[in-house]
Amino acid sequence: MSTLTLAGRNHHVVRSHNLRAVLNHLLRAGVISRAQLAERTALSNTTITHLIDELLNQGIVVEAEHGGDGVNGNRRIGRPRTGLQLNPDARYAVGVHIGIGVLRAAVVNLYAEIVHNNIISFDPTLPVSRVLPRIAKLVEKTIAESGAERSRILGVGIGASGLVDYQKGVNVLAPNLGWRDVPLRSWMESRLGLPVTVDNNVRAMALGEAMFGAGRDVGVLAFVYGRIGVGAGFVINGQPFRGSGAGAGEIGHTVMIPEGGERCKCGNYGCLETLISEPVLIREANRLAYSKPKGILAQHLGRDDGRRPIEQVFAAARAGDADALALIEVRARYLGIALANLVNILNPELILLGGMFAQGSEFFLPTAERVMRAHAFAGLGDRVRLQPTRFGWRAGVIGAASLALSAFFYHMEGA
Ligand SMILES: [Zn+2]
Repeated sequence: MSTLTLAGRNHHVVRSHNLRAVLNHLLRAGVISRAQLAERTALSNTTITHLIDELLNQGIVVEAEHGGDGVNGNRRIGRPRTGLQLNPDARYAVGVHIGIGVLRAAVVNLYAEIVHNNIISFDPTLPVSRVLPRIAKLVEKTIAESGAERSRILGVGIGASGLVDYQKGVNVLAPNLGWRDVPLRSWMESRLGLPVTVDNNVRAMALGEAMFGAGRDVGVLAFVYGRIGVGAGFVINGQPFRGSGAGAGEIGHTVMIPEGGERCKCGNYGCLETLISEPVLIREANRLAYSKPKGILAQHLGRDDGRRPIEQVFAAARAGDADALALIEVRARYLGIALANLVNILNPELILLGGMFAQGSEFFLPTAERVMRAHAFAGLGDRVRLQPTRFGWRAGVIGAASLALSAFFYHMEGA
């Protein structure tokens, strides 16, 4: 992306590292002066000048009035200093969220603002060979409809379900889709002709929050997502934490009831996912509704109003249905226990809840938070902040696009 040459061995690596470090500071600062950039990146003024000239030439950076001192925003008297800021629409990235039976794609700009997006559903029992062409088609359609020039698209990030080998770009195992060893990156790269990066979809959401959302400037961040499955993603000092075998964050398969628990899709018994996933809550709600056919819950679940059944369960709870409230309360306690365990192992500063947990956060959060704080070790739970993601349904595509933005553009802290 640059024609600039810097002296030294491995100058390409240096150039790319320095450029991306500068881009990362531009993203974080909003408006920043050359001097501040030099200070924060520990690069010389000369290097900064060369890099910035290059970025100005490419239209990635623009001059901006920089009146404040960058510390407390007080305006200085006299001539404003020359500041720099990213031109957010200079480049784009594509984010693809693979859910269980749902595919979302979005074109985003350099601030991860959605320019255009699409959603399609698919039968999760379809063989992967039938799903991959749909993903590629969805990406092409979304790019075309966005109006973004293809030459300005940095790459595609894919947030996949289950275990992902990030280095190889392979979806190693997605139990809820029945996928095993799917070479997502190589398949998509040859089909799309764009660089592709692949990671677990919830880890991607955590990265999206760390770069563009509530997780900015948070040292240890966890994102816990509940939908068909339950998963977590961690970002530590700006870096996604993947574990030694890409399996960090499989909180849905922590065993809550080792004896007498329900069988999980993973083959174990009593996993968290068997207690607090969307299908389980809907199944239990239907059972309760069946026993009280005239109750509020039964009325909501019986409506053919186009809403997802889980939304109908939340609506019944909002209308004060005691069964719906009790059901969520009991299940939220398990979530609270799992969060307490997570707090004890990871000691995060912030835990964000996504998917169904964010959608019904008014019911899940108070109980889960109380239980988490009560059970975490030595007051660790008192210091952690627990809140729903503000990205809503966008968390998946913003996260996936963040994979591409961090792989091909910004250089995240500590990388
Ligand atoms: Zn399991």
